[in-house]
Amino acid sequence: MPMSTAFENRLYPRLSAVAEAFGTPFHIYDEVGIRETARRINAAFAGVRAFREFFAVKALPNPRVMAILAEEGFGFDCSSITELILARRVGAGPRDIMFTSNNTSAEDFRVAALEGGCRLNLDDITLVPKVPQMPEEICFRYNPGARRTGNSIIGNPVEAKYGVAHDQIVDAYRAAMDRGARRFGLHTMVASNERNADYMVQTVTMLLDIVTLVSRALSIRFEFINMGGGLGIPYRPDEAPLDLESMAERIRDRLQRFERAQGYAPRLFMESGRFVTGPHGALVTRAINRKDTYRTYIGVDASMTALMRPGMYGAYHHITVPAKAGDHHRQTVDVVGPLCENNDKFAIQRELPPIADGDLLVIHDTGAHGHCMGFNYNGQLRPQELLLRADGTVELIRRAETVADYFATLNFLPMETNA
Ligand SMILES: *Cc1c(COP(=O)(O)O)cnc(C)c1O
Repeated sequence: MPMSTAFENRLYPRLSAVAEAFGTPFHIYDEVGIRETARRINAAFAGVRAFREFFAVKALPNPRVMAILAEEGFGFDCSSITELILARRVGAGPRDIMFTSNNTSAEDFRVAALEGGCRLNLDDITLVPKVPQMPEEICFRYNPGARRTGNSIIGNPVEAKYGVAHDQIVDAYRAAMDRGARRFGLHTMVASNERNADYMVQTVTMLLDIVTLVSRALSIRFEFINMGGGLGIPYRPDEAPLDLESMAERIRDRLQRFERAQGYAPRLFMESGRFVTGPHGALVTRAINRKDTYRTYIGVDASMTALMRPGMYGAYHHITVPAKAGDHHRQTVDVVGPLCENNDKFAIQRELPPIADGDLLVIHDTGAHGHCMGFNYNGQLRPQELLLRADGTVELIRRAETVADYFATLNFLPMETNA
């Protein structure tokens, strides 16, 4: 099920009051749900020695939510310097931050090394001499290319711009050692919204094979492997969820097998974003217009600038209309925003209950890659973010943008007065 019934039960009774108090549209996140998922991940991997999740900041870069995840023991995976600064601002230390950038600039390396640095994950062998000061611990992002693991092919990473190619991986570690690296990690990220546990287990198997290969070639040990993120969630009501517990158990078995063969096992890191917060957020928007032309359009007060996934990827986001929950009539409609862009649709030819102006629509599963992918095209202003706290109160954790925010980076000529 998209968006848990428990979240709906917490949200819907207070939905009108929240919309009244804060105005629409808003993304709202469920503290209880986020904590439950965080604890579920930690519990699932409890059998893996020193497992750690580094929340992928890009999924929901709000310091209030990040602080909750830090309380649950998570570190942070950062893909940009701004995200890294954000992680530092919520109190993350060098060991709590994994910096996984691509096409990294000299300036990024400089800032990454400040304040004790971070866990640096390099994306290419040519970056080794470009790191101003090689940290004692270094990690590389591995891109398997067209290699086969077991009987199944892992994605099509040949076309991906990320990571060190298979034939360069040993040389990459050797080059880092020559510059003083003494401790090592291995990272990969070859999945996206994957609900098949087999795939993630194969990813770990692949990483352990590379650990074996590099260890033999260079007589080193690995401190950790990082299996990346990409754990999937069901966006559609009929989709089955990922079996996290069985996935974690099988990964634990792989690590134990490795330990029996090698006499040690590296730590396991994961850096999920979507799985952690995705189902625990919703975009709430009000119907403001209804238009019957060749199709029926429900116009709402949010646009794709608040949630880009449907317009950009054709992604499905479930929509409910809580006030019409008891109404079993259905109408086929497109749910649209105000942009001059025909992709500005939250749903296309969707069967929904009859919607009137003023009705609140809840767009599910916007807790990851939602608000943060927002943009300002057409002068659209990004909406506020709210947190539904464990005690039932609602907190404004990011205000809505204003016209003044939009103008803040512009230089206006002094205005001529007609006086
Ligand atoms: C985007 C990203 C993640 C998180 O992906 P999810 O699909 O949200 O789990 C993790 N690691 C890296 C390097 C990423 O780019």
